Amino acid sequence: MTTLPRGFFGDGEPVEVAPGTLFLPSFANAAAFITSEGVLLVDCGHEMFGARILEALRKLTTLPVVAIVFTHGHVDHAFGVRAIDDDARERGHERPRRIAHVRVAERFLRYQKTRGLNEHINSVQFGVPARFPSEYPQIDQTYESELTLTLGGETFELVHGRGETDDATWVYAPSRGALCTGDFFIGCSPNCGNPQKVQRYPDEWAAALRRMALKKPKILLPGHGPVITGEADVYTALSETSEYLEALVEQTLARMNRGERPSSIIHEVVPPAHLKGRWYLEPLYDRPEFIVRNLLRLHGGWWNGNPAELLPSREENLARHIAEISGGVSTLIEKGRALLSSDIVTACHFAEWATLAAPTDKEALALKREAFLKRASDEPSLMARNIFLRAAQEADDAATRLG
Ligand SMILES: [Zn+2]
Repeated sequence: MTTLPRGFFGDGEPVEVAPGTLFLPSFANAAAFITSEGVLLVDCGHEMFGARILEALRKLTTLPVVAIVFTHGHVDHAFGVRAIDDDARERGHERPRRIAHVRVAERFLRYQKTRGLNEHINSVQFGVPARFPSEYPQIDQTYESELTLTLGGETFELVHGRGETDDATWVYAPSRGALCTGDFFIGCSPNCGNPQKVQRYPDEWAAALRRMALKKPKILLPGHGPVITGEADVYTALSETSEYLEALVEQTLARMNRGERPSSIIHEVVPPAHLKGRWYLEPLYDRPEFIVRNLLRLHGGWWNGNPAELLPSREENLARHIAEISGGVSTLIEKGRALLSSDIVTACHFAEWATLAAPTDKEALALKREAFLKRASDEPSLMARNIFLRAAQEADDAATRLG
């Protein structure tokens, strides 16, 4: 099993990457620009990590934070703000001004409606109980497409693009050649297909990365993962990530335009072979297959093209019939076991049919547990791995309840 790159979970050290330009790693990174007027902070981490970001910042400067840009409204980027505000109050500074794209406020309204769902999704995605906040930071200043901030005589360009979210901002500091990408760049393949979350925008994501590359940044401060320095390396990382997304978009659209069945398209589209092995495109969090599904949803509807599944039979009903014609659930279990070592993907289908047909059959539950544990152990993507682990855990829990 491959793990996420060092730095993805903020295990790096805070560092002054250039004079007055600070990289503050946490689960989601923050960056700080020291100007003669004070500090411009870009993101402030999850509520659990705001204090850590503050501590990192305060190791390097005691100047007031005058403004915070939220690159988007995700809980791991904008909710560490309380620690920053508390610090300002204790030091007798004004509360830092919060700046974000206009749609961040809409996101927070949606979060109020879907708090339980988001708590559930995050607990599955990360494999740990997740608390989703019920209070959302007020934004002081919003913009729609571009905004130039001037601080201490220096300009900072805020540019909106849709990518992982519809409320995203990337920040460029031209006099330093420093780029804060937000989650347009996360040190592994883009979180652009997430199976449990709302729409992502691969086409516009690629365009935003191209636009960033045109600035010829010398420093890339990512939303997650390690910093990249050097104009050539930054350019390559941005352009190749863009190329990766463009290839998936192009292939998926070509097949959609030919009227191909979505359930077959997901098996046909592949990332460019020459980009294989790039550390920043490794599918360690999301997967290209999920990006294809996300594109199918973006440009089409939710139907997978299988007419039987348009208004389908209940899964349990179907599974019972499959068991019946097989000669019983035990045959499904036997077949599933036989496939464990040769075709784990199909073995998982048999395990699922067996437990749907006979939810209290201990042998079926044991197969499900084993199949999904094996699937998880082979799986590079954290999102997919944790969904498989959750399936194994559910089978385990059901077996325990049976005694
Ligand atoms: Zn993030």
